[in-house]
Amino acid sequence: MKTYPGATGARLPRWLLPDHWPMQGDQPQLATLHFHSDGLQLAPDEGPHADYLPLNGALVLPALIEPHAHLDKTFTIQRSPAQQPGLLAAIAAMHQDRMHWSREDLEKRTQQALLWAVESGVSLLRTHVDWFTTEAPLAWQVIGEMQHPLCCIERVALAPLSFFANPDDAQHIATQVAASGPGALLGGFIHSSNWDAQALLNLLQAAEQHQLDLDLHIDEELNTEAQGMRWLANTLQHHPFSGQITCSHSCALSQQEDALEILDLLAQQRVTLIALPLTNLLLQDAVPGRTPRQRGLTLVKEAQTRGIPLLLGADNVQDAFCPLGSYDPLDTLFSGVLSLQLGAAFDEASQLICRADAFYRNDMVIFPHADTASWPLRQRQRYRLKQGVRYGEATNDA
Ligand SMILES: [Zn+2]
Repeated sequence: MKTYPGATGARLPRWLLPDHWPMQGDQPQLATLHFHSDGLQLAPDEGPHADYLPLNGALVLPALIEPHAHLDKTFTIQRSPAQQPGLLAAIAAMHQDRMHWSREDLEKRTQQALLWAVESGVSLLRTHVDWFTTEAPLAWQVIGEMQHPLCCIERVALAPLSFFANPDDAQHIATQVAASGPGALLGGFIHSSNWDAQALLNLLQAAEQHQLDLDLHIDEELNTEAQGMRWLANTLQHHPFSGQITCSHSCALSQQEDALEILDLLAQQRVTLIALPLTNLLLQDAVPGRTPRQRGLTLVKEAQTRGIPLLLGADNVQDAFCPLGSYDPLDTLFSGVLSLQLGAAFDEASQLICRADAFYRNDMVIFPHADTASWPLRQRQRYRLKQGVRYGEATNDA
């Protein structure tokens, strides 16, 4: 396999370029990338370089991230569609389906999902895994055994908040997650239908004690009375958490009068927000026979203004929660650009589906025939360039 020591003619997004990068007209100058063993070095294009991969203005992004998926449920829509619109009906359909979740069934579905994600250029996939009792489910183990040389997989234990009401149960769950090794996180489903402040405190304390990061399904609803984010923001003020906290969904912020104060507090606490535009558009404000009036999305722009780290995730793919989906972050981004009215897709919004650190570790995705005006709708063909080696779809004229 050929290893390139660098690449010329890379069109990088503006958000990734250093300040004062030279412009050519209204476009940033193309870049030459030098792949060193200790990282990537970047310079304005210096003309042809022997042995370097010529990219000729191809669009280049850091390897992509899928920060929020549900591999245990994926590809079950055919046998278990939801009987009604909305989140709670989808949860009911999932409970119907899980009698089919044998090792063979789980392996088949999760491997397909992983393959689709890797084909899309995903280098880090975080999946939530539902727990149905305080014992780790089979899917936790099956997904824990999955490996791919081009993709790291993280698992989040997704348990309803009620499982943490008893501190001993909270400890028991956290102990199993901690014993699962790196890439295992503690999570929870926190909703006004199961709100319990003491249980959330137990969850936080168990995570802290076992040095686990958190990723919470929190306030995935448009109920102004949702308490999760408000409680978390206030509690972290007095009980700082040493790990990383990620809050997924947080749709209720779009309805709450004190939402900006909540965000101000969370901005001080290194909390990351994940918006899930596809499923939030589909599952929020969902009433049979009535056109939805609300978008159901969290306050992405207000979070950005406050410097809160933010990502977009796919959430459910081809299950009772969402019948569509592709594990392609470009589809999520397209949905987000429109529904959240984000800025330029490539030059600004693309930072919501990847992170600069992958790029500086010489791991990127190349869109060889793309231009910034058409991306991500047309010219979606791509390949991965990792440590100077090309993977995936080969093209003659990179
Ligand atoms: Zn989810």
